[in-house]
Amino acid sequence: MESIKAGVWQRTRGRRLLSLELSVAGIGSLTPGFTRVVLEGTALDEYRDPHPADAFKLMLPPARISAVPTPARSGSGLPQRPDDTVEPVLRAFTVRGFDPAARRLTMDVARHDHGVGIDWLAAARPGDPVSLSGMRPEWAVGAGIRDHVLIGDGTALPAISAILDGLDPDHAVSAYVATPDPADIELVAPHPKLTLHHLADITRVVDHAPASIAGGRRTQVWVAAEAAAVRDIRAHAVGVWGVDRCDLLARAYWKRGVTSTENDSVNLMAYRHAATAGADIRDPELAESIDLGGVGRDLVLEPRATPIS
Ligand SMILES: Cc1cc2nc3c(=O)[nH]c(=O)nc-3n(C[C@H](O)[C@H](O)[C@H](O)COP(=O)(O)OP(=O)(O)OC[C@H]3O[C@@H](n4cnc5c(N)ncnc54)[C@H](O)[C@@H]3O)c2cc1C
Repeated sequence: MESIKAGVWQRTRGRRLLSLELSVAGIGSLTPGFTRVVLEGTALDEYRDPHPADAFKLMLPPARISAVPTPARSGSGLPQRPDDTVEPVLRAFTVRGFDPAARRLTMDVARHDHGVGIDWLAAARPGDPVSLSGMRPEWAVGAGIRDHVLIGDGTALPAISAILDGLDPDHAVSAYVATPDPADIELVAPHPKLTLHHLADITRVVDHAPASIAGGRRTQVWVAAEAAAVRDIRAHAVGVWGVDRCDLLARAYWKRGVTSTENDSVNLMAYRHAATAGADIRDPELAESIDLGGVGRDLVLEPRATPIS
């Protein structure tokens, strides 16, 4: 794969979507801002091709009475449910750790004020059933890339740490991280060639010039945070740092003032519109356009014939 975008697209096209019924093995506070949840179950045998920062959606029951049945999927990969089933509430999280032998998957949650996910977290107990659907690829290393910039708020910290765990020790990486509490920064995984910048506000990354970019080296940039912040950082990375869009993966992990349910329903309409127009809904460039397209997502989405490299 020639670039992060091409790599993520390739993996997304080749993946088999998993629907797994698991249970909570353990839950507890990790740092002032984070809670760790460990899920377990024999269904994890189906997760055979784990990659750093893989993401999934927890299918949370509206009332915490039982696990939610997993959906069938159409040929395009969109979920299909019979009309008489209760719609689950979907919330996206990252695989922070995976132990295939123990059949355990670890996720870390950045706590915030309120939300279905946060409510679930507060009430979850070992033994609770929980279903998840995934995995969405969030990481690949472009051919020849040896320099990386990772940028994220607390919601992206589990992904950044998973990426650092898996990164070649000879690659250089600058990470810019903002966390709910200063003590949370200890959750950033070590790496021999990591330069870590702890920011109070992730949008202030634009005040920095990552060493590899200042040095004129081809650099892969990965950004995940609140949608408006990601939009600004992406514009800066392309316009000021001169990063090629193929070498940039920008993801909106949440949107201020909007629940994931509301955000996903707007995005789903945009994906349906794009699919009808002939676009490949697995194209990460399309996901970026929809995720970061702003209110209404009323942009015209032009299908592309071939993967970018
Ligand atoms: C691919 C992907 C991977 C993700 N991985 C992780 C992960 O590993 N760990 C993690 O903690 N999050 C992760 N997130 C983000 C998480 O899905 C969102 O934060 C989600 O909104 C939480 O759901 P909720 O039910 O708690 O809040 P919602 O019901 O969605 O939102 C309720 C309110 O809270 C606000 N809100 C949501 N998240 C935050 C926040 N972090 N800080 C402040 N306000 C917020 C919303 O704007 C809204 O006003 C990921 C998101 C994506 C797309």
